Amino acid sequence: MTIAENLEMIHSRIAQTCRQMDRDPATVRLLPVSKTKPASDVVEAAEAGVRRFGENRVQEAMGKWQELSDDHPQIEWAIIGHLQTNKARDVARFASEFQALDSLRLARELDKRLHAQGRQLDVLVEVNSSGEPQKSGVAPSEAVDFARQLSAFDALRVKGLMTVALHSDDESQVAACFQRMRVVQEQLRNEASEVSSWNDLSMGMSGDFEIAIAHGATTVRVGQAIFGSRPPMGQ
Ligand SMILES: *Cc1c(COP(=O)(O)O)cnc(C)c1O
Repeated sequence: MTIAENLEMIHSRIAQTCRQMDRDPATVRLLPVSKTKPASDVVEAAEAGVRRFGENRVQEAMGKWQELSDDHPQIEWAIIGHLQTNKARDVARFASEFQALDSLRLARELDKRLHAQGRQLDVLVEVNSSGEPQKSGVAPSEAVDFARQLSAFDALRVKGLMTVALHSDDESQVAACFQRMRVVQEQLRNEASEVSSWNDLSMGMSGDFEIAIAHGATTVRVGQAIFGSRPPMGQ
């Protein structure tokens, strides 16, 4: 299967799940994740209509940006992985979106660097919906407080929430993570009216995007099902 065929297949699976859930497929955004894959794969997907790509490492994303920006200036980058504060300056230079905001220190640094560049950034707050200690993200119970404080940073266009669910064959445990995100989203709407426009809910990957859509995902981040499998440690 080519990348274009895989993209078509994922779009049709998204559409089918939406039909089952009585949702409009236009309410689900597919973010293809090109991490570990060469720039040539990004070009192939771009030629099939993809504009924005997810990457979880800044260094790798920046390399592809530098390689492709002259010939493909329309390509945009979304950083979806945890970010060290000292990488904020790089992200501020080239990224269009950052999905893993989980500390005020990082928010402050990004805002400062973005102002210096005269840029803005779409941002999602990462929530640790599985409670696993090795996962990044703010705790579900802290999300509302955290959200309120982000209004101080005007270069950050906060759009919603992101999570990585538990990696498990037990669908009910995966679904429980997504359900927790629905609860957090509701809390935000009810308790923090200033962030009521945070409608994006980024959750679901190759192995669980259909469950995520069933639980209200508006963005799914799909890598391997589009670009082929990665070596297990190739995160
Ligand atoms: C790698 C990654 C994905 C995509 O995972 P696949 O299994 O390749 O679909 C989604 N979200 C995050 C945060 C990732 O790091």
